[in-house]
Amino acid sequence: MTMETQIVGCSKDGLSRAKKYIEEGEAVAFHTETVYGLGANAFSDEAVLKIFALKGRPADNPLIVHVHRDYELSRLIDGEPSYAAALRKAFLPGPLTMVYPSTGKVSKYVSCGLDTLAVRVPSSPAAQAFLREVDLPVAAPSANLSKHVSPVTARHVFDDFNGKISLILDGGACSGGIESTVLDCTGKIPQILREGLVTREMIAAVAGDCLVYKRKEGEKPKSPGMAYKHYAPRCKTAYCHSAAEAKALYAKESEQNGKPCILCESKAAAELAGYDVLDLGGTGEAMAQRLYALLREGERRCTLLIGIEPTLRGGVMQGVLNRFTRAFGGNYEA
Ligand code: AMP
Ligand code: MG
Repeated sequence: MTMETQIVGCSKDGLSRAKKYIEEGEAVAFHTETVYGLGANAFSDEAVLKIFALKGRPADNPLIVHVHRDYELSRLIDGEPSYAAALRKAFLPGPLTMVYPSTGKVSKYVSCGLDTLAVRVPSSPAAQAFLREVDLPVAAPSANLSKHVSPVTARHVFDDFNGKISLILDGGACSGGIESTVLDCTGKIPQILREGLVTREMIAAVAGDCLVYKRKEGEKPKSPGMAYKHYAPRCKTAYCHSAAEAKALYAKESEQNGKPCILCESKAAAELAGYDVLDLGGTGEAMAQRLYALLREGERRCTLLIGIEPTLRGGVMQGVLNRFTRAFGGNYEA
């Protein structure tokens, strides 16, 4: 089925149309501070299944439920440890998703049969306005086709879903740029399942301690989404560790009449005058903000995207490197 896809601002009219679609069981794309989400009524089996179908998302990769800041969490979660209450106070609304024991009230398809529920309270004013308007828990993964690069502008969402959804609520470019930190809050000590803008250090400073989940060989992952190929641009890719290596790959692609392009941090870009370079910036925050937009820019304009692994470490770089290497087909481990 094709339909006209409209990009609208978060005006009164835009919000009331979004509410109508959500109540009718349709999916609506909306802005958050991390990436754009593709949302549907979390109470409705049919609406939630629509999200999986639209994205081509594997049926065992659970969704995050988004609520506004005053939503009564006890409707969704069955109690919380004291560190979780402190973390909520410190970081919400914001780019932190917390995994709790579920009350089982939302559709069973949200968590793909797990007895836990991932909950997030996004901070972007556009997301808050949308969630307040619908006043329902909204199940939403990132608004990209499965495996493709996550969207950080309304246009990116349009490029993946034109003709497939009715409405994109435009809140501008996403300031954070990578997906939320996913934190398991079901144990004695909080455990990061997916790294993001809220770092281990930030969580440990509030909760006293924080673990980072590492999947053991052959073990089923705790956060199923981390097992999949992700964030992949739709052009050939190559991965290297120095400007010299990138120059050699660049020359080879040019000789074969291809159009190469190099994605790297500012420090490496400085050694690449005269080359087509996409500059990620020099800080972790800048790299997080630019990564997905530049991966999409790369796939648009080149035949081979050459990534040079950033050398910067610490803070949000863990989350950035995880996405960066996976976009190039690798699996970053610290
Ligand atoms: P996305 O919204 O596309 O960024 O993906 C959501 C991420 O949250 C995936 O990595 C999921 O595996 C993870 N997630 C969602 N619900 C749960 C849950 N109940 N337990 C563990 N991880 C979850
Ligand atoms: Mg995603």
